[in-house]
Amino acid sequence: MAAKSNSIMDKLISLAKRRGFIFQSSEIYGGINSCYDYGPLGIELKKNIKELWWKSMIYERNDVEGLDASILMHPKVWEASGHVEGFTDPMIDCRVCKSRFRADQIDTSKPCPVCGNRDTFTEARQFNLMFKTFMGPVEEDASVVFLRPETAQGIYVNFHNVREASRRKLPFGIAQIGKAFRNEITPGNFTFRTREFEQMEMQYFVRPEEDEKWFEYWKAARMEWYKRLGLQEQKLRFHEHGPDDLAHYAKKAFDVEYEFPFGWQEIEGIHNRTDFDLRRHMEFSGKDLRYFDDQTKERFVPYVIETSAGCDRILLTALIDAYEEEEERVVLRLDPVIAPFKVAVFPLVKRDGMPELAQKITNDLRGDYRVFYDESGSIGRRYRRQDEAGTPFCVTIDGETLENQTVTIRDRDSMEQIRINISNVRQYLADRLK
Ligand code: ATP
Repeated sequence: MAAKSNSIMDKLISLAKRRGFIFQSSEIYGGINSCYDYGPLGIELKKNIKELWWKSMIYERNDVEGLDASILMHPKVWEASGHVEGFTDPMIDCRVCKSRFRADQIDTSKPCPVCGNRDTFTEARQFNLMFKTFMGPVEEDASVVFLRPETAQGIYVNFHNVREASRRKLPFGIAQIGKAFRNEITPGNFTFRTREFEQMEMQYFVRPEEDEKWFEYWKAARMEWYKRLGLQEQKLRFHEHGPDDLAHYAKKAFDVEYEFPFGWQEIEGIHNRTDFDLRRHMEFSGKDLRYFDDQTKERFVPYVIETSAGCDRILLTALIDAYEEEEERVVLRLDPVIAPFKVAVFPLVKRDGMPELAQKITNDLRGDYRVFYDESGSIGRRYRRQDEAGTPFCVTIDGETLENQTVTIRDRDSMEQIRINISNVRQYLADRLK
């Protein structure tokens, strides 16, 4: 079973490179561990996932505002948040081969899994996962800054700014998409766990007595979003954090988990962070971040329900979920809404005016959709390439087109082809790409 799972990951990694979804970073220099670059198809897929998230969080609602906070923040932010003190994983080194492991992921009574020696492990030591750097030209303690390990703190420190500027009353949320950095001890499983990644986080500020109601609300809403993304329902589940693995700031926490080839794993965390973060920022900044209710005349610190998703991890999930090997082809059954190219246009052969007509159809569709034009190689091979890219529709111009202005539209999933009039192509796509 393990061998089979690994082979699916290997094949997916190979497809991701071959088709231009994901490349190893700095590959010509031998690569850099756990850093990846998104190629032409990968960036489209990522953009579509982010857009679907942003749309569901902001455009389709009336109670969430957007934000783009900076990656570098005042160092006190990370003292207030608890990251300086507590954002650590225990690590263990092998004294012989110098390999480093997360203490909770290794059995020290067994030989080192890398070099095979016994009794070579060091004691567990705490390792802070935040990346440190220096601001300005002098490398001294006073100029240390951190690359943010989560985007959430940018939202808390702007709570008042956003509330005042947008004249919001509780409950309301602030949503943000941005990079986060964690010096993970054991990154791996392709883009599942990396040291630089993008988060899509939303903090929903509520009255303390309404926290449980809103927690349940967001838990359900987020699961619905994953179904909308087209993921198979039977591969999704919730996992509740027990008292032992509950984060220091959380009263309650559920993960959305997906069944990867390497097991059930978290793709998003939904947390009741209580008033922990705002209170800590009040304490460390000396600023009053309480909310004033002008009807009841009460002043209080709101509670926060957080939904925290990893964009790269969701993209990997979408690829894995969509990947299917059939007898004659490999196909990515991506939901059309997130597919990188929506449609490919092919002239059957490179003569009789077919390329010109195909170009014209391509140009007509451009602007509305990411369209791919291809006139080289056998038509079968062109279809296979688009199957691997996850393109839901292929439009082909053939001899009959020249006679009666009809084209074939091939459906990626069923491989069925129907003939429709050129003038109906746009509407056909619009109906299916909503
Ligand atoms: P884990 O237990 O896997 O380390 P976490 O519980 O620390 O994850 P959170 O802090 O809740 O993760 O982060 C929210 C989301 O951000 C995760 O669900 C995941 O999608 C994403 N994420 C966190 N760390 C990484 C990483 N190293 N690489 C890619 N995505 C990540």
